Amino acid sequence: MMMNGDAANGGPAATLAAAPAAASVAGGAANVGPAVPTLGFATRAIHVGCPPDPGSGAVVPPISVSSTFAMPGLVKKDHMYSRLSNPNRDGFEACLASLEGGKHGFAFASGQAATVTMMHTLKAGDHVVSIDDVYAGTQQYFTRIATPMGLNFTFCDMAAPGALEAAILPTTRLVWLETPTNPTMKITSIEAVAAAAHAVGALLVVDNTFASPYLQSPLALGADVVFHSVSKYIGGHSDLVMGALVTSDAALAVRLRHLQINMGATPSPFDCFLASRGLKTLALRMVAHSTNGAAVAAAVEAHPAVRKVLYPGLASHPSHAVATMQMRGGGGMMTFWLRGGLPAARAFLGALSVVTLAVSLGGVESLVEHPALMTHASLPPEVRAELGIDDGMVRLSVGIEDAADVVADITQALDAAKAVIDGGAPATAAPATGAVGAAAAPPKVTGVKRPHE
Ligand SMILES: *Cc1c(COP(=O)(O)O)cnc(C)c1O
Repeated sequence: MMMNGDAANGGPAATLAAAPAAASVAGGAANVGPAVPTLGFATRAIHVGCPPDPGSGAVVPPISVSSTFAMPGLVKKDHMYSRLSNPNRDGFEACLASLEGGKHGFAFASGQAATVTMMHTLKAGDHVVSIDDVYAGTQQYFTRIATPMGLNFTFCDMAAPGALEAAILPTTRLVWLETPTNPTMKITSIEAVAAAAHAVGALLVVDNTFASPYLQSPLALGADVVFHSVSKYIGGHSDLVMGALVTSDAALAVRLRHLQINMGATPSPFDCFLASRGLKTLALRMVAHSTNGAAVAAAVEAHPAVRKVLYPGLASHPSHAVATMQMRGGGGMMTFWLRGGLPAARAFLGALSVVTLAVSLGGVESLVEHPALMTHASLPPEVRAELGIDDGMVRLSVGIEDAADVVADITQALDAAKAVIDGGAPATAAPATGAVGAAAAPPKVTGVKRPHE
């Protein structure tokens, strides 16, 4: 007799197991999103796209490394060739689509690969409006790769009244919004941007990386496509580079599947396994990131070494009201500006011990970075100045360590910065020269030319 697992678990798991269909090669876009919408986020995160293996009963589906799949009698079972579809990729795509409240998910070898594939839905001559403080890699792709290939871009602060309406042209086919943005934590109403984009028949893509599907649901607010760098909160453990798109638009889904499998920037089965495992704890982690983020933001805001802090959960954030409407929590990302410019920033970064100085974000460990010298070093200085990315700016990804330890570490490092400020270091520091950390042994970051998260 076959064992179906315990009764309590058998119900939802059995229903969910039947839901995600394999991605079809020809028509594509067959994976099913919200399998059983009545089930909660955490339940779907754990069960959608992840039924026990029908052969062995393994509760965790095996990593399917085969590049090709047997077709006895010329009949294709679920899969044919792994670039076209793969069991681990299908499972991840179905689960993420469900968590975003969408119908079709698409996984890519990186967030950048997802961006490039999305932009191939356009053709030369099309116009795109992008938020100005867009992820630096997205900005580089838009300006230095897609522009020479014939796409036209206008960058604007979509939260500024009238700015988006002024930027949108009759030829605008796509609007690219990030909220919250990296690193200036701009928060823009997804609903308002969707209305403006749809008024001229343009699609709205929302980069939901900073919020994660747990804290923000762009499709429900009118977006046509959700973008993720899976490398961040979804992977969640700083051990994965992957990207994804989700949509409910059937025609667009067919096009995206065609582009995904023919451009070929698909992720490995092992990476899809890691991403699926990340999704299973996303709900728990985002609650912890939000709790710790709020504690750290309050401590940072109260410290005399800090000029300003931007955190969605703080009432002092200029778009706190928008954040409250469209986000379910503050998350773990914040940016603050130290008084005393680069010398104070150096003292702060050099004094940290629990928090690690490194790019990227969204992992279980707290990470800090200095945008002007690290992630955004590639931006022209005038663009950095326009965006407010100066030498006193620090970006923090608060992890899920004990909140008290993170707060204590940051507080003592801010005290170290305060000592430098009080010691008479120039308030306006010399421009960044390419090294951060303790003056005695500055870590070499001069080689960082390309923006990476
Ligand atoms: C990291 C990141 C990307 C790019 O994703 P990769 O996985 O590094 O290619 C895009 N947008 C945001 C907001 C990011 O943080």
